[in-house]
Amino acid sequence: MILFENARLWDGFAEAATPGMSVLVEGETIREVAPAIASASARRIDLAGRTLMPGLVDCHVHLIASMVSFEANALLPDAVVAFRAGKLMREMLMRGFTTVRDLGGATLGLRLAWEEGLIEGPRVSLCGKALSQTGGHADFRTRADTRDFAFFESRLGSLGRLADGVDAVRRACREEIKGGADYIKLMANGGVASPSDPIAFLGYSDAELRAAVEEAAMAQTYVAAHLYTDEAIGRAVRAGIRSLEHCNLITAATAAEAAAAGCIACPTLVTYQALKEEGASLGLGPESVAKIDDVRLAGLESLDRMRGAGLTMVFGTDLLGPMHRRQSEEFVIRGAVLPAAEVLRSATSHAAVLLRQEGRIGCVAPGALADLLVVEGDPLADLTLLTRQGAHLAAIMQGGRFVKDAL
Ligand code: ZN
Ligand code: ZN
Repeated sequence: MILFENARLWDGFAEAATPGMSVLVEGETIREVAPAIASASARRIDLAGRTLMPGLVDCHVHLIASMVSFEANALLPDAVVAFRAGKLMREMLMRGFTTVRDLGGATLGLRLAWEEGLIEGPRVSLCGKALSQTGGHADFRTRADTRDFAFFESRLGSLGRLADGVDAVRRACREEIKGGADYIKLMANGGVASPSDPIAFLGYSDAELRAAVEEAAMAQTYVAAHLYTDEAIGRAVRAGIRSLEHCNLITAATAAEAAAAGCIACPTLVTYQALKEEGASLGLGPESVAKIDDVRLAGLESLDRMRGAGLTMVFGTDLLGPMHRRQSEEFVIRGAVLPAAEVLRSATSHAAVLLRQEGRIGCVAPGALADLLVVEGDPLADLTLLTRQGAHLAAIMQGGRFVKDAL
């Protein structure tokens, strides 16, 4: 047992942290949270007023995306993809992310390797390969490229697969769920990093969207969809899709409709900033570079609209390749528009709702997993304390085990 004492505690929900708190960890879970806890046998750690908070959750990552070009990534040998994913996972963990949701590419194999202790990293909620229609956001072939996409789908480095038509979509959903997917991901709108789908293009017919939602519901889970334009978002909401990725061009009216339907939005602003600054030099094609500002400039304004409509937002980043080092900058970008407590809830308690792990992750409470960060200073007053690759994190605990301890 480990007893943290004299902590400035932020529980994942409150507007402010509470000084002078104690937290008792037993095994992999939190047993007690109180101003003073008596325990004869626990190892006592005096935090001397440092902040204790839940481990962070990034709700939109691609663990297998070690390169910016989707095609180059898909052509990497599977073993290289896997080892690079392991390295990336460890780097995410050292930034304080104890859980991530992968939106395309991560497989059951990565989770099994993590469970076996072969790699250190966040817990992963995964969807297997993202589903896309021909010419959609997972189809990275250029217009003149008529190769059969099936060749790429068999590779670990391909973050998506193609499925066209209701029956093919159902089959793909069933295959991903059989293979260990926790939820289903659809590409339901044009994208930046794919060459032949302008942002305004809608992905999938209504019948295909609804088929995926039904298949997910049968497996007691939900659908997440890649979405930018208001038209695409509204259509997804009405088809029953729960997790709305990006949402850069959402209007207030659609945000209100999404909130009423119980949807959750996952903005990913840092990736457009990073693509703008670094994309071209990292191999992003000219068709893609030309599309960045279609979504980047509207992104910041979308936060205000979604907040005003009462649409719950979670923390996401969606970075590719070497840009992953910028993961925690998303806190600072959002903090320029939203209150810090709101930003932190997006990466803790709100994320837990999306992942359907309320009370288990994203909070400091009895019965929750002991995924904890010790921060030098108060992140509610200064979100930059979560940047610099974890430099301000004195300790990181995952499932009751220290993965970093500089106390
Ligand atoms: Zn996307
Ligand atoms: Zn993504």
